[in-house]
Amino acid sequence: MDINTFKQLYDDCKQNNKKIYESAIEYEISLGEYTEEQIRLQAKNSLCAMKSAIISGLNSKELSPSGMSGENCYKLKQRFETETSILGKTAQKVMMYALATSEQNVRMGTIVACPTAGSCGIVPAVMISYAEDYNINEEEQINALITAGEIGNLIAKKMALAGAVGGCQAECGVASAMAAGALTQMRGGSVEQIINSVGLSLKNILGLTCDPVCGLVEIPCIKRNSFLAIHSITASELAMANIKTVIPTDEIVDAMEQTGKLMSPLLKETSKGGLAKTITAKSLRGKLLFR
Ligand code: SF4
Repeated sequence: MDINTFKQLYDDCKQNNKKIYESAIEYEISLGEYTEEQIRLQAKNSLCAMKSAIISGLNSKELSPSGMSGENCYKLKQRFETETSILGKTAQKVMMYALATSEQNVRMGTIVACPTAGSCGIVPAVMISYAEDYNINEEEQINALITAGEIGNLIAKKMALAGAVGGCQAECGVASAMAAGALTQMRGGSVEQIINSVGLSLKNILGLTCDPVCGLVEIPCIKRNSFLAIHSITASELAMANIKTVIPTDEIVDAMEQTGKLMSPLLKETSKGGLAKTITAKSLRGKLLFR
């Protein structure tokens, strides 16, 4: 069954007693290109690549080619190792893992775009931190990653997942919604709770601009991954408490698409507005290492 909206996804799962990942796998198989085994293997390979990026990022202080970033994961790790934090262990990991992956991206390391390279830290940080600390087995992790993929896929049917089209709401915002859904899946949430976590996450990042400093996916992108990974946890917690989004998730996606259209091109990856036009951003242009 071709599913284009979260409502259709919910109905399919409800009527046929399916999980979101089962619906997604079933549809993929119906296209005739892959077997379930191949789909699961692909997800497993992505998970392995995500874990490798985190490990590499956690152990590196290497600056990006521009010299603008690369040390923040190390700094945060040092702080968490030596100081008390108001965050619990898993939330600390989420923040660190998001930075680790995003910094690997700017070092030109291998990452998994989910949905994009600029937003690559959010889904792995949330999923892998939770899986490690709550003993989630590989099969369940794969189920959660396929759930995240289906969430991204449905949003992508409405709008392009690119900062140049919809601002950062379409990149880090969508990544946050994917991570919220994956987390809610791993926690045993219902289909309704997963879809609510998606809506709650998206609703609260509408209008997020894309204004990368010096045209590079570094500032504000790297730290934003850490922020929006935590945002995903908030959405999942609310959804698991059966707190619902009053505006249905499909309507939120429509609002996101409309918001993207209303946003000035100056705030959509052109680096001609917002943070990219600040005095400091302009001064950084003359200091880039590869200039
Ligand atoms: S600010 Fe722009 S370039 Fe950076 S992650 Fe967001 S959408 Fe991508």
